[in-house]
Amino acid sequence: MNKIEPPLALLAELSHRCPLRCPYCSNPLKLDAASREMSTQDWLDVIEEAAGMGVLQIHFSGGEPTIRKDLEEMVGRAEDLGVYTNLITSGVLLDRDRLERLAKRGLQHVQLSFQGAGMANGDRIGGFKGGHAKKLKIARTIGEIGLPLTINAVMHRQNMSELESMIEMAVDFGANRLEVAHVQYYGWGLRNRAALLPTRIQLDEATAIVEAARERLKGVMVFDYVVPDYYARRPKSCMGGWGRQFLNITPSGRVMPCHAAETIPNMKFEQTGSRPLLDIWRHSEAFNRFRGTSWMPEPCRSCDRREIDWGGCRCQALALTGDAGNTDPVCEKSPERERILELAHGESAADFPEFEYRSFGESA
Ligand code: SF4
Ligand code: SF4
Repeated sequence: MNKIEPPLALLAELSHRCPLRCPYCSNPLKLDAASREMSTQDWLDVIEEAAGMGVLQIHFSGGEPTIRKDLEEMVGRAEDLGVYTNLITSGVLLDRDRLERLAKRGLQHVQLSFQGAGMANGDRIGGFKGGHAKKLKIARTIGEIGLPLTINAVMHRQNMSELESMIEMAVDFGANRLEVAHVQYYGWGLRNRAALLPTRIQLDEATAIVEAARERLKGVMVFDYVVPDYYARRPKSCMGGWGRQFLNITPSGRVMPCHAAETIPNMKFEQTGSRPLLDIWRHSEAFNRFRGTSWMPEPCRSCDRREIDWGGCRCQALALTGDAGNTDPVCEKSPERERILELAHGESAADFPEFEYRSFGESA
């Protein structure tokens, strides 16, 4: 195997707790209870180790990371070690004081999610009354404090008609970047897929809106656009390839190649502190299972894109074919491709069911 380069970024899931209950949340169905969360010192140790092994960015995420009162300490430690810090938040627990404290400790960027462009749909989708109004307020405060802001607009069939308004809203906030991300179907998103998956026509309309806005707003705001895989011709390079660029640490300290990897059966994830993080990254069974290209079946094995998309997403292969070691079935070279398209067309054209909101009902 080629030399294993150190990861570029760490996704630090500080807590699975969150006031919102989004039906597409990418957290696992079995959430970590608060009592299982790592201590402040555990996280500070992780940050030191990550910086020591060459991690350049830490994304503080969750659940809702601001639910942790010690977030300032973690941001401060990362800043002291020269690591770029990004906060991925729903914003509903933030106020000006807290934001100013975080900025003072060195926070460099905020990614703020919106569930809709208006209060009714925003609060309904997020499952949290009053959430949208809080988000509007904090988006403005982030701008006033001068922190760079990305708006995350998570799109699906029940808010697609609000896309134009979401773009206007992001411009109005002075956001530097807008990530228009169609729901990805893992975790709660997979459970609620029938309520979320857009039709091909809806997707094409959304793509046209984003392309026009990208042109119109050149120099004003940068767009990231993530399409729902099921309609793509080729899979995305999930996490930039398994065990190549990212590592993810759960609230209770499991070290994983991606946030959905726990869905894969018979995969053992090591705990922070059990051995050096760099050893886990380089030598653990979980990080090596799908690293590189030697695990690949045909058609990936002989495909000229095998070091571009790395065979797509393992968790999606599992969810749709029952085997994480298969070619991602959204790839048009996959023998499963036609079945997935049929499934997407059928499900998205049918009436949608009620949301099953994210909850701690199955927490560990
Ligand atoms: S997707 Fe929604 S429920 Fe999940 S962590 Fe983000 S804001 Fe909370
Ligand atoms: S066959 Fe495999 S490597 Fe080739 S494009 Fe499809 S998923 Fe990617």
